[in-house]
Order: sequence, then C-alpha cells, then structure tokens
Amino acid sequence: MFNIQIMKIKYRKWGLRLVATCIVVLGLLLAIVLNPILLYANKSNVGNYTICSQHLPDPYFIERLNNATELLKTSELYDGNQKLTICINDGSAFPRLVQAIQGPAFAYAYYHNVVLNGAVNARDNYVELNGYKWNLTELLAHEATHCMQSRKYGLLHSNPIARYPQWKWEGYPEYVARKNKASLSENISHLIETEHTDNNNWISFDDSTGTVIPYYKSWLLMQYCLDIRKMSYTQLLEDTTCEALFTQYMMNWYATRK
Ligand SMILES: [Zn+2]
Repeated sequence: MFNIQIMKIKYRKWGLRLVATCIVVLGLLLAIVLNPILLYANKSNVGNYTICSQHLPDPYFIERLNNATELLKTSELYDGNQKLTICINDGSAFPRLVQAIQGPAFAYAYYHNVVLNGAVNARDNYVELNGYKWNLTELLAHEATHCMQSRKYGLLHSNPIARYPQWKWEGYPEYVARKNKASLSENISHLIETEHTDNNNWISFDDSTGTVIPYYKSWLLMQYCLDIRKMSYTQLLEDTTCEALFTQYMMNWYATRK
C-alpha cells in the first residue's frame, strides 16, 4: 500500500515535469516562429521590409520585392505603414521548421511574416519547388496580400479562424499578384485549353512559371467579381453567393463576350 502511494507521487511528479517540458518547448517554438531572425545569420532592412537570409540578399531580389510592392499598392487593403519580414530559403533551418508545421508549399504567410520555402532564383524571377516554378515577384505579392488580409480584418476575422471559402481567401492574393497578366476572357480560354490536356492540376504562363488550377480558377472568379461586377473585396467577403453560382454567372458572361 505504502509502495503504491510512493509510485503515485512519482508518476505525478514525472507527469508535471513532462507537462512543464512541453510548455517550455512549445514556448520556444512559438518564440522562434514569431521571430524568424533567431535562425538567420543576416538581417537587412529595405523600406518596409526586413529580409532574413543567410547571405546578403541578391540585388535582383530587392528589385523583385520592389516590383511586388507596386502590385500591392493596387489593392484596397494596402497600408503603406505595414512592415513585413521576408524569410529566404538559403540555408537557414527556419523554412524547414515552418514546412514541418504547415506541410510543403512554395511559401507561407502568417502575421507579418512571409517565408519562401522553394529555391529562389531572383535573377530569372522564379521560385522552384519539386520541379515546378512560381513567379517570384507574384509569389511575394501573393503572400504579402495574405498579411494585408490579416492586418485589415484581424486574426479572428481572417482564415483559418473565419473559414471564408478557399476561393475567396486564395483568389484575392492571386488577383493582386497577377494584376498585370491577361484579361478575364483570355484567362478563361487558357483554362479551357489546359483542362483538355494532361495538366497534373498545374497551369502555366508564358514565362514558364505557373500555378495550381484551383488557385487559377479562384483568380478568375475574383477578376469576374471585382473587375466585371465591380464589387469590392470586402463586399465579396460578406456576399453569400456560392462559388458554383458565381462560376455560372462568369461563364454566361464569357459566352456572350465571344
Ligand atoms: Zn495563399
């Protein structure tokens, strides 16, 4: 009986130690995730951006970042006072840590941090992941738009907590990032052509970069709602029309345009 009581006390102590260790580890992990510079050798300040990298950033990278900023300025969510941290995947363990938490992706955005996970080629303006290329300028603009969404609407009214449909949450960053690309009718034609090929869920642009087809479709719906229907993005978030119905309206518009 006495031994059982001693064992119970020991188990309770071990349990408490385990919980305390988990809290410390999670606290450390959170501190690193919120402060990427802790895992980088170099920090450079360029305008509203802090660039975290292992080596000095390539001048081409600064140019791509400035071009992304010009795209961001076209958005109704743009705030010239918003400061962002950009993390490059050039040897630091940080992108691998974020990938371990969120799964593989070209890049991630959370709070005021943008993390590039693919291999950056700033001179040729792309990020490569698993043999696929994403335009670097447009990827930076896409991820920074997610940061603008969070800043504008707040954590509780942003995804994942707000649970807006994926096409609205991902379509808008695509819309901002690909502002200077083709018109909606050209894009719909390109999508129809691509869907008749063995596409592996990927659609390419003229510069040999591309995007996944669900994002491309979301971008087209965003072009339809914002450019053709003249809705604001904030209005669209509040609108209850479903994706299928907007797609039907868009294709009716396309049919009458041809
Ligand atoms: Zn995104």
